[in-house]
Amino acid sequence: MKKLLPLMCFILGLSGCMSNVDSGNSEKQSEAYTTNFFAMDTYMELTAYGPNGEEAIRTAQEEVLRLDALWSISSQDGDVVQLNATAQETVSEETRQLILRSIAIHDLTGGAFECTVLPIMDLWGFTTQEYRVPSAEEIQAVLPLVDSANIEVSGNEVTLLSGTTIDLGGIAKGYTSNRIIEIFKEYGVESGMVSLGGNVQTLGHKPDGSNWRIAVQDPKLPEEFAGVVEVSDKAVITSGGYQRFFEEDGITYHHIIDPETGYPANSGIISCTIVSEDGTLADGFSTSLFVMGLERASEFWRIHQDEFDVILITDDGTLYITQGIQKSFLTQGNYLEYKLIEA
Ligand code: AMP
Ligand code: MG
Repeated sequence: MKKLLPLMCFILGLSGCMSNVDSGNSEKQSEAYTTNFFAMDTYMELTAYGPNGEEAIRTAQEEVLRLDALWSISSQDGDVVQLNATAQETVSEETRQLILRSIAIHDLTGGAFECTVLPIMDLWGFTTQEYRVPSAEEIQAVLPLVDSANIEVSGNEVTLLSGTTIDLGGIAKGYTSNRIIEIFKEYGVESGMVSLGGNVQTLGHKPDGSNWRIAVQDPKLPEEFAGVVEVSDKAVITSGGYQRFFEEDGITYHHIIDPETGYPANSGIISCTIVSEDGTLADGFSTSLFVMGLERASEFWRIHQDEFDVILITDDGTLYITQGIQKSFLTQGNYLEYKLIEA
């Protein structure tokens, strides 16, 4: 996880917000305020420009810590831990919204997104870091619990049927970066950026009026970059098997689960980056399209192309981008060209 720190600095370097001094503008419109902290299992960096930037990042940091306590699977008083323990709870409004969004994305993606994968994550040791390869029987025994149909939401009361439990890790960071951008706006901030472990969301343009330039990691060499995408007012969120994995007998097992099989998704996609105005959607879809594989993901994008674009890298080292970001994407490093997914 510590390896992410230099990466984040590189992203911010590209984005031109390394400085936190007044650039000379008398209105202080381009003064940068930055905070770094660890939450949601990752390093976070929030930067807001302008007169209210300092208060904005302070409030945003408090909100991140509050949401982390609600949703972390190790936060004993949080909504998720409580709900998983009792199977019926009155949850906070944010938890209700995030569960409803998870179910909606589950339905949209034909079940590729499945926030009930927790027992599978447990079996593989991803929740405890005591990694192991479970037997096929163990997986079959818990697969019936992996089913969003077992979640009932009535007002703020959530019920989990038949022993099902939830894990919002596939979508929580995207919801959180959306929320931070909302807070920035409430404070009148017009330019800012957040990086939650390399998952980025931007507000407006850089203070000099140019677009933010966000680097996409090379999943085969995560210290290097496969491309850069230029955006404003967008989230750029990546799911990659290289982000959390273990090896046993020369085989790599990663943390993004195919809910149909209970095994790490083996779709051919090794990195999936979603570019969208909506951070929650970007996070939910990044996990989903990773599970879907190239063909299904391309078809899904064609149907929902007004809502997002995508950068995919497959295990043969091919980089694909969708048509909507053709003019704003540049390859980097070992990736000299891309293939275009056309509408
Ligand atoms: P992300 O990095 O956004 O792709 O999220 C990966 C995390 O989401 C994992 O660590 C699990 O907590 C959870 N997860 C794994 N597989 C799925 C899935 N198919 N649908 C939803 N969440 C998942
Ligand atoms: Mg995700």
